[in-house]
Amino acid sequence: MRVYNFSAGPSMLPLEVLEEAQKEFLDFQGTGMSVTEISHRDKAFAPIVEEAESLMRELMNIPENYCVLFVQGGASQQFAAVPLNLMHTGKADYIVTGNFSKKAWQEGQIYGEARKVASSEDKNYTYIPDVDKIAFNDDSDYVHICSNNTIFGTRYVKFPETKKPLVCDMSSEILSREVDVTKFGVIYAGAQKNLAPAGVTIVIARKDLIENPLPICPTMLKWKTQADNGSLYNTPPCFSIYMANLVLRHLKKLGGIKEINKVNEYKAGLLYDFIDNSKLYTNGVEKKYRSIMNVPFVTGSKELDEKFVKEAKAAGLVSIKGHRLVGGMRASIYNAMPVEGVKALIEFMKKFEKENA
Ligand SMILES: *Cc1c(COP(=O)(O)O)cnc(C)c1O
Repeated sequence: MRVYNFSAGPSMLPLEVLEEAQKEFLDFQGTGMSVTEISHRDKAFAPIVEEAESLMRELMNIPENYCVLFVQGGASQQFAAVPLNLMHTGKADYIVTGNFSKKAWQEGQIYGEARKVASSEDKNYTYIPDVDKIAFNDDSDYVHICSNNTIFGTRYVKFPETKKPLVCDMSSEILSREVDVTKFGVIYAGAQKNLAPAGVTIVIARKDLIENPLPICPTMLKWKTQADNGSLYNTPPCFSIYMANLVLRHLKKLGGIKEINKVNEYKAGLLYDFIDNSKLYTNGVEKKYRSIMNVPFVTGSKELDEKFVKEAKAAGLVSIKGHRLVGGMRASIYNAMPVEGVKALIEFMKKFEKENA
């Protein structure tokens, strides 16, 4: 029996996609081999990368002057790749709105002057600083942000207008809402939240920005290396790219990002409405900045939170324990979480509230 999995990542994948992968797992398109056994140089594999790239372009409306790369090392590796590709004068601005943007900022400090120009740490990252009031530095090579904060459950509702290229970690919300790619210099995302199994990371970069990586940038971290080789410079994470391609096909079939976003808003709306009207549960995020992907909530009692997690699991609602930096619970409701999963969670929350009032 399949459970509803509220894990922050790796997380649920669409059932239809898993079934498709299962169906052709032993014999990929008549090759007599599993897709996990095929050489990345085989002519059966090349179309997968090409299709995945073209679907990314179509779904996110990515213009020709951007490259779309499939790389390894996770979003965390990009925390280093960003300065190594872009920090030409040794200075950059960072907005710190959570755990991952803090890590990106810290990684940036290894390579130069990574300046924290705004932060929401004063209120335990429960809001996003007003982007119109931030004084960006004129001598920065780029401005780095994280658009959706996976652990704290916040998201930008408006992106900063910056003179310098805006670099964005979109790991936990890529393909969940429409974004204007042209507003960004670089977008990157680990795939294991909203797109595919762990192992592949997407980098969308404006082509003029990848031309001059720092001399010390390792070959493998140069975006240009991957761009010049169609993401096949070395062995790519073949299976993850294959799965990403199936998920992208699935998203297209559902009507694209606009349609999936409507469903995401609806799911998050149901859950936040219920939380706001309950006497037991609270979500501490400033309403305007609430994430529609990651919904943290608490009962106010550590013991009850623990009981909740345990009983939810027994009811088939798993991996709902909150991150240790926030405590309580966190429901990650990415693209692949069905509406029924959110409704089942709300029903469980109601029952739990009644029994523990
Ligand atoms: C999960 C996550 C990361 C870390 O991703 P890895 O692929 O594990 O390196 C970075 N940023 C955000 C926003 C995330 O949600």
